[in-house]
Amino acid sequence: MIPSLEKLITIVPPPKRPKAVGSFARWRTAEEKLGLKLPEDYRQFVHVYGGGLFADFYLVHTPGERSVYGNLVDYLGLMASHFAWRDGLQFNIHPSRPGLLVWGHDENGNYYYWLTKGEPDRWTVVTEETRGNGFAKHNCSMVEYLLGVQLLKIKALAGSYPPLVMRCPSEECLGWARGAHGADDPWHCDACESEWDDRESFDKEIMAVLQKHPHRRASYLRKRGHYYPAPRESEDPNYAKLVRRELTINRSRIAE
Ligand SMILES: [Zn+2]
Repeated sequence: MIPSLEKLITIVPPPKRPKAVGSFARWRTAEEKLGLKLPEDYRQFVHVYGGGLFADFYLVHTPGERSVYGNLVDYLGLMASHFAWRDGLQFNIHPSRPGLLVWGHDENGNYYYWLTKGEPDRWTVVTEETRGNGFAKHNCSMVEYLLGVQLLKIKALAGSYPPLVMRCPSEECLGWARGAHGADDPWHCDACESEWDDRESFDKEIMAVLQKHPHRRASYLRKRGHYYPAPRESEDPNYAKLVRRELTINRSRIAE
């Protein structure tokens, strides 16, 4: 597996059964229609994550997706009207080469392209912020771009992205805490209205609740000194039941 994808998997857990991966025949047909070979990192990404929403923000188009809004080839039909009214674009558009070939869009309506210059494995990313700064070139592959955003090395086309969402560490709270990767980013839980000023105080609270309540351990991963959300599937199947009884458990411990 490509190293950048291996790394990405540790940050954004892939689905157990990725959707719209596409058969070998579908990939071949897509490549024939596009008249080019698709990059290896993209191929591996789609096999791991499939189509649909990636990391709550990106919609990566795949040859296997049935909906036009997520299909790599069919989406190009929609892009024709997007480009139709543009004058003086600094890039050529696929099928011109090198040209922009769209591989995804996001929840805010921004677009993500390959610049099809040279060998597919050397294609770089161009982003288009439709309501802001327009096009920007990134000297990296598609997976490296997505990884860079998650690692906060590349600024996402949305101010508060990427958010982190994980189980709220307050006792008896079944809610989700939201925050960001930065050390100074605050965390909050809408369900119990708890707030934490920074990552450190949030991490400390998780550590404390895990010592008290081992049934919560599978909800978190510990990496680089911080807690991260574990895949939902690894959570204790009785999570809700156990969390609801946490204060009762404490009281009976005190009574002992
Ligand atoms: Zn909470």
